[in-house]
Amino acid sequence: MTDYVKIIVDIPLSHLDNSYDYRVPKKYKDIIKIGHAVKVRFGNRMVVGFVIGFSNTTDLDKDRVRDISSIITKEELFNEEMLELFKWMASYYKCLLVKVIKSAIPTGVITGKVKKKRVRFLSLNQNQEETDRIINELRKKAPKQKEILEFLLANDEYLSTSQLAERVSTSAGTVSRLIKKGYLKYEEKISRRRPYFKKSSPGSSKPELTKEQQEVINKILVNIKGNKTDSYLLHGVTGSGKTEVYLRIIEEGLSRGKGAIVLVPEISLTPMMVRIFYQRFGDKIAVLHSNLSLGERYDEWRRLYYGEALIAIGARSAVFAPVKNCGLIIIDEEHETSYKQGENPYYHAREVALKRVKLSGGVVILGSATPSLESYYYAQEGKFKYLALTERINAEEMPPVSIIDMREELRNGNTSIFSTSLKKAINNSLLKKEQVLIFLNRRGYANFILCRECGHVIKCKNCDISLTYHESENSLRCHYCDFTSIVPRNCPACGSVFIKKFGIGTERIEEELKKEFTGAVIERMDVDTTTRKGSHYEILERIEKGETDILVGTQMIAKGHDYPNISVVGVITADNILNLPDFRSGERTFQLLTQVAGRTGRGSKNGEVIIQTYTPEHYSIIAASKHDYLQFYNQEINSRKKLFYPPFSQLVNIIIQGYQEQGVVKAAEQLNVFLKDYQQYIKEILGPSPAPINKLRNRYRWQIILKIQGWAKRNFILAETRSKFLPEQDKEIGFIIDVDPIKM
Ligand code: ADP
Ligand code: ZN
Ligand code: ZN
Repeated sequence: MTDYVKIIVDIPLSHLDNSYDYRVPKKYKDIIKIGHAVKVRFGNRMVVGFVIGFSNTTDLDKDRVRDISSIITKEELFNEEMLELFKWMASYYKCLLVKVIKSAIPTGVITGKVKKKRVRFLSLNQNQEETDRIINELRKKAPKQKEILEFLLANDEYLSTSQLAERVSTSAGTVSRLIKKGYLKYEEKISRRRPYFKKSSPGSSKPELTKEQQEVINKILVNIKGNKTDSYLLHGVTGSGKTEVYLRIIEEGLSRGKGAIVLVPEISLTPMMVRIFYQRFGDKIAVLHSNLSLGERYDEWRRLYYGEALIAIGARSAVFAPVKNCGLIIIDEEHETSYKQGENPYYHAREVALKRVKLSGGVVILGSATPSLESYYYAQEGKFKYLALTERINAEEMPPVSIIDMREELRNGNTSIFSTSLKKAINNSLLKKEQVLIFLNRRGYANFILCRECGHVIKCKNCDISLTYHESENSLRCHYCDFTSIVPRNCPACGSVFIKKFGIGTERIEEELKKEFTGAVIERMDVDTTTRKGSHYEILERIEKGETDILVGTQMIAKGHDYPNISVVGVITADNILNLPDFRSGERTFQLLTQVAGRTGRGSKNGEVIIQTYTPEHYSIIAASKHDYLQFYNQEINSRKKLFYPPFSQLVNIIIQGYQEQGVVKAAEQLNVFLKDYQQYIKEILGPSPAPINKLRNRYRWQIILKIQGWAKRNFILAETRSKFLPEQDKEIGFIIDVDPIKM
């Protein structure tokens, strides 16, 4: 008997992160479960709460315990395993349990306020035998009516009168006659809204696996078949057929009654992936991402919950999908930064997936052509099993990559943003009616100072990251340690006066391309051209159909597309990301260049990649040009080790924000003083310094970065900060604790 339930309430106050006891009224005793959303009176108002436990007694005074008022949701929003996962997240990421729940479950599901959609449809009013008899009878007199009955026997779709008439190419009147005769009747059912995605009809054709694919699959299947829990890093070069590996493993899992979750970095960027999965699995897939309408999300969630769909495909938050008997989580392009949530709770889907599988059993596959440094390191350490696909399908060669030194171009009098070789390659490609991708490595706040003559970028002497230009004070600043310097008039390396703030956008490149290659069909793909729903897909479709000659774009065009007719990939400047004030900038550069380079040389075409840069000697660029992950990894891991960056330390980024800059700086300094007392547990304290995005929605932001070695120490420091420092602070100042930050 469940007399009392433990409820956490949805109130945005940090000190209320405890559960409260409520009494269960008789009528709910046999119904109420962990994971139910309920309405309860809290203080003097009604709030939403979540059931997280039961008890037969309560420490509260019996007369003062309140009843829960109602159960909001028919579905349990989470089961005990998921609750364990949520609790782990709250403790690991130092955030409120209720915040975790609310970011894991779609709002519509929690409130239950989304209306269910009902449809009326026509069905046969008699059993099959009887129907066969009627069909025979109608054969001569009314062949169209006969056809309708045959159609309904063969298809179980939910069609209205007019839809049915259309499908059988007849009039609504003909259908109505069957209703009047009593052969058809109306039924009603709840229908699920499905998100829009371009479908092509499911087909069963599967390619014959390559030897490498087969080997990788066999290794993973041992675990799927034996119900063992394990995690794999699948390191497969671009075009090696990772997707086919995923499909086969999922298929095998399904045949054993196991569901799967497939995470993709950003679903709108990978519409082709959804199409491939639909082709193989039809309506067994459900698609979850933030661009769905409330109703669509609600319905896709319930399709999974009720086992109507068994495979969830989606972005980051799909890691929480209520997949039945989930035995497999695949994270495609596991190195992508979009797997880390940029707001509270600051979780990383990779870590959550690994934990989820640990709690409920199953297999995690992390797939990438360019694994994150951490994942590769852990694979080496044995934390993940390492699997490799080293060859492209059909033994296609990796495209040759040339590095163009833009300093040299300037010296030879070419001031255009396109090098002579790139222009030539584009012209050639256009002549042959092949296609070109032009890629710009760009992110908003890349305000670094670069010498166009020698390529020198001014860096912090303490942190080995680029100094950021601050226009308002005309100074250069380090976003890690707050080292500040004036902007030099001449390049410190070569004395040149061609030293200036760097940055060009995609729009400018599109303009220049139009001037240079008149007559070519040029399209642009970036945040500005893809705001409308489905516009990504349309742009990609025009490339696929050969309607576009040149596609210019940002990171968006680097993702896993597979088009055989692209023969040139041009990178305008490899330096933009390289010079971001982030210790991972070398890694990002390598990953992006490798990914874009992987867009060509597919099908039967020979591809070519041209990388323009001001730092041709940088190891990220050289390694990418040789498609050599290991060379890059070995260099990078050494520098991480030397400077105590992850995976050799755990980072915490504490962001201090507020409307008054003075107050923010003061609080940051006080925090710094507080942390100094714990120095023995901390490897290094960086800052306080202005955050890379120094002002956001009118709030000033400063940050302190902690390098800590070991989870235990980290937890201790954060617990101390939360219990001893934060309560003393001015309410005007906000503190954000970002555990394992990824963009800094
Ligand atoms: P990756 O994700 O590793 O970059 P993809 O999964 O995009 O590679 O595969 C590249 C191409 O090879 C796709 O067009 C895919 O359909 C095709 N492909 C995959 N496996 C096979 C196979 N065994 N035989 C033939 N083609 C395959
Ligand atoms: Zn210089
Ligand atoms: Zn510094």
